[in-house]
Amino acid sequence: MDHLIPDVDAVDRQPELLAIRKSLIGLDRSEIAAALVETGIDEKAARMRARQLFHWLYYRGASKFEDMSSISKEMRGWLPEKFTAERPEITSLQESTDGTRKWLVKFPDGQEVESVHIPEEDRGALCVSSQVGCTLTCSFCHTGTMKLVRNLTAGEIISQMLVARDTINEWPSPKGERMISNIVMMGMGEPLLNYDNVAKALKIIMDGEGISLSKRRITLSTSGVVPKIRQCGEELGVNLAISLHAVNNDVRDILVPINKRYPIKELLQACKEYPGSNNARRITFEYVMLDGINDSPADARELVRLLKDIPAKVNLIPFNPWPGTQYQCSSNNAMHRFAKIVNDAGYSSPIRVPRGRDIMAACGQLKSASKKAPASVRHKENAASASL
Ligand code: SF4
Repeated sequence: MDHLIPDVDAVDRQPELLAIRKSLIGLDRSEIAAALVETGIDEKAARMRARQLFHWLYYRGASKFEDMSSISKEMRGWLPEKFTAERPEITSLQESTDGTRKWLVKFPDGQEVESVHIPEEDRGALCVSSQVGCTLTCSFCHTGTMKLVRNLTAGEIISQMLVARDTINEWPSPKGERMISNIVMMGMGEPLLNYDNVAKALKIIMDGEGISLSKRRITLSTSGVVPKIRQCGEELGVNLAISLHAVNNDVRDILVPINKRYPIKELLQACKEYPGSNNARRITFEYVMLDGINDSPADARELVRLLKDIPAKVNLIPFNPWPGTQYQCSSNNAMHRFAKIVNDAGYSSPIRVPRGRDIMAACGQLKSASKKAPASVRHKENAASASL
């Protein structure tokens, strides 16, 4: 049922039909072909049409079959009766004075997620959500205060990219510079707890005949779902980011409770073995700076010790307090002292400058305004910049 979307207009026009159309967004070529075969087309023709549809959907960004001019007129006539390529509804689109954009998109079942675009001069990173809510309860994270509603389908994950490209007007897929040059799986949810859908979506996004984004331009951020880390490296080969945030298990158990299941030692071992990481493709360690919790010089020295033998870079993230949080951001002095120790040990460790503060100030409240379901991008806004 993942891809079945009710055709509301058709229902309004002809209530007796109650038409249900299958969304093609999120299907790869073989699945599109299989869907066409189900309509009665023979397999060879279906494979050829599937290639054409894939091109229109993911290279040209068409959302209407009538625009797909290389497909026969007759077929364009009946495709909308059975299929759709429509986008989710944009419930809200905010743009910061610095160009950062934040979308809240609503899926047909009413569930909503956020995605954020952080532009640079000639490129930009899109931060994409993988779940509605999150099962993990990281104590510094506002999203951690809401329950998991459900996983997103592959189509819903890709749709966030399509919506952003529609808004930025980046069709067909540019060969050279792009304003959505990078993707970070760092929005709502833990991507490795929705691995199959995330993997399917990323494979479609990487496909050279469609959106064609290199694996080197995709970063997947995990709080440490150790058993899936190797699989992610072997199957997808994307860049890895780890939400580390603490250097000993006592503190990390509180900040990132999945640590109780997969403690720091196991997590770092998985990082050491991550396929494809090397000095040119370092693993990013995200570290939110919390006053008096994880920001001492001793913590910095321990971080350096832990990262030994891992091709790593560190992303220091000033904590952005939210109502009700027990934490405060580290002082500037503490952050710079920490950064210097890590940097002197040979690891890049920038303190990220927040982007889009004017709209990020409402971050979480955007979604909670429509439904009590805050979505945090406090860390992702920084990490997205770091991935560029
Ligand atoms: S930091 Fe990530 S994994 Fe942890 S609660 Fe927030 S969204 Fe979930």
